[in-house]
Amino acid sequence: MMKTTLHTDWTVADICEGFLFSKSEGKGLFGLNGQLVIQPEYQRNYIYDKGGRDVAVVKSLLKGYPLGLIYFVKTKTGYEVLDGQQRITSFARFVTDQYRFALPDDAGNPRYFKSLSDEEQEKILNTPLTIYVCEGSAKDIEEWFQTINIAGLPLTEQELLNAAYHGEFVNLARKVFANTNNPNMQKWQAYINGDPKRQQVLEAALDWVSNGHIREYMNEHRQDQNIDQLVNHFDSVIDWINNLFIEAHKEMRGLQWGRLYQEYHNTPYNKSKLNEKVAELMGDPRVHNKKGIFEYVLGGCTEPKLLEIRVFDETIKRAKYEEQTKLAKAAGHSNCPLCAISNNANATKIWDLKEMDADHVSAWSKGGPTNICNCEMLCRTHNQEKGNK
Ligand SMILES: [Zn+2]
Repeated sequence: MMKTTLHTDWTVADICEGFLFSKSEGKGLFGLNGQLVIQPEYQRNYIYDKGGRDVAVVKSLLKGYPLGLIYFVKTKTGYEVLDGQQRITSFARFVTDQYRFALPDDAGNPRYFKSLSDEEQEKILNTPLTIYVCEGSAKDIEEWFQTINIAGLPLTEQELLNAAYHGEFVNLARKVFANTNNPNMQKWQAYINGDPKRQQVLEAALDWVSNGHIREYMNEHRQDQNIDQLVNHFDSVIDWINNLFIEAHKEMRGLQWGRLYQEYHNTPYNKSKLNEKVAELMGDPRVHNKKGIFEYVLGGCTEPKLLEIRVFDETIKRAKYEEQTKLAKAAGHSNCPLCAISNNANATKIWDLKEMDADHVSAWSKGGPTNICNCEMLCRTHNQEKGNK
């Protein structure tokens, strides 16, 4: 069961007691005299100073505006901030003069905490905060978080999971996969979509190792003191992609590499042929879904559906063929419109359906639709000529 206790007795001054800001990590670390971990590892980094939101927090306090609800989770040693770390870090930086920022006055002059009047200082320090302290199982906390409307940036799915399954495993995993200073990050982002700070690279790593069962995996490994399996599997997938494909196309980002690895990493490939095929399909304007090329070639080029190739289906071809042929016979010229305007013997030739191909009147590459209105049957020769232009 989830238990929440409302606290309205903690003031800004209480929270700022023992506040420590780490400039190197860009985040507030502790408050409440050491009882509060302001930014546990699963939280995203402090990103408030962009856009003057830190100034806005202090202004709100001075004007007596509410700061909104803040959520803590009860831990063995005290509390961790679940939501509100950015607001807390903002006012604590201002009040304790660490990594300070100024509050401009009406004339635009910078004002720091110490240059405020005693009355203004007291007003800020004595502001009571509205804080919910939550206690419950991982699942309870996660579910509950999903149902509340969190102020500011909503948490990503993985941030919610990190909060719910917080512990040493998540801490270690974040240090590798949410760390933008990691020298491998750029290489990884060639294949993974999303923001590492918002835990989306970690999400991919967990997705790959768990075959899509992230929650179960996190639950099972929550107490682990190492992340070896997670890292090893992730490296195997990345190495496999790197070894197989010569060029990193932007279409490779965000593919289901975990699943593709499971399905195909034991399949031998002729690397040069595989890459030739990729290059060919990349350059083929009929291939609508370029992202599908990689799974298509890995699967031995047997599932053209993956490519969403723009071709007319047989029903459209036959209908168009019959329409064109009927008109051509009545007019006494070829049923290929290009043969019909030629000066040779083909000008009056009626081609069989199997001797003709469908062509986009308005080119598909220029947005022409693949429907009967934009379909024209041409003899093989003319269709190929047109296709080469
Ligand atoms: Zn023709």
